[in-house]
Amino acid sequence: MCIFPKRRSNIIKGLLFIVFLISGNFSLIAEEAISNYKVYFAVGNFKNKTIFVIRQFEQAGKKFYLGVDPDNLETLIIPSDLISPETTGWPQILIRYNNTSYERAIEAANKQSFSLQNSGIIHGFPKAKGITLTIDLCPSNKPLDRIIFTKLITEFQKSEKPVPIALSITGRFILNHLDDINWLRDLIASDDISVTWINHTYNHHFNPKLPLKENFLLAPGTDLNFEILETEIALLQHGFLPSVFFRFPGLVSDHKAVVKVIEYGLIPIGSDAWLAKGQPIHGGSIVLIHGNGNEPLGVHDFIRLLQSEKSSIVKKEWLLYDLRESVGNEFQL
Ligand SMILES: [Zn+2]
Repeated sequence: MCIFPKRRSNIIKGLLFIVFLISGNFSLIAEEAISNYKVYFAVGNFKNKTIFVIRQFEQAGKKFYLGVDPDNLETLIIPSDLISPETTGWPQILIRYNNTSYERAIEAANKQSFSLQNSGIIHGFPKAKGITLTIDLCPSNKPLDRIIFTKLITEFQKSEKPVPIALSITGRFILNHLDDINWLRDLIASDDISVTWINHTYNHHFNPKLPLKENFLLAPGTDLNFEILETEIALLQHGFLPSVFFRFPGLVSDHKAVVKVIEYGLIPIGSDAWLAKGQPIHGGSIVLIHGNGNEPLGVHDFIRLLQSEKSSIVKKEWLLYDLRESVGNEFQL
């Protein structure tokens, strides 16, 4: 009978999941519902570091904070009994901590917010030859392009393990691709990839008949609070840690939208190398491809690029950078 092996494989999967949660310094119980999830700004000390708290929520009767280390842009979940943060306002954080990478990245994103497309940070710190890879997972009926991940793991297994990847995730992709999400979780648990989860909104509304200024997140009636917070809840509920990065659907925004997103404590990330649009790659580029089955050209170009850099990858002369590190370093004093 096949019942027992299947049950056993589910148990093993469950164990891997728990191990991942613990190893990620992340003690939530994924099955328990998250409640009272809200924006909350405070500053506290945790393990001798200043942490900005940006959210609070409850799970299994306990209160937690989502915080960010303003120097390396890493996020963390902290049980409320391990930190005593002082409540503050968003403007006060920016003024008081204006010498941190976090504040400087936000300021730069704010300055890059006046065109309708590609606002925010579009380039990382080019410390050597290499790029930061962002893969957008917009809503789609097609499966995840798993070949991107398997190729990356094969090519980088001797030079970078885990391979750092930033995934721009939508709530609707998570909802409709549970197999793919579990597959990615297994790759994280086995240390093959490390993922920075970029908030790409929950619904990623798009109407091909509308002009850009009324489309995507600029569509009248958009509930930005829902789009941002529900995506973060969906990530947490599946055992993943939200980052402080945000990517506008379609890379479309206006100044007002950028200011509003920043007020959630998030840093908008654009791209200076959208491969399917033929944009060339430079050292430090934030490269954009789609991994949701809708952009075979970008995936094909990226795999060709990996082939052409094969020998440099082995010699560690062509690297992939972690988005948190490339943005953090770019805006370090
Ligand atoms: Zn998208």
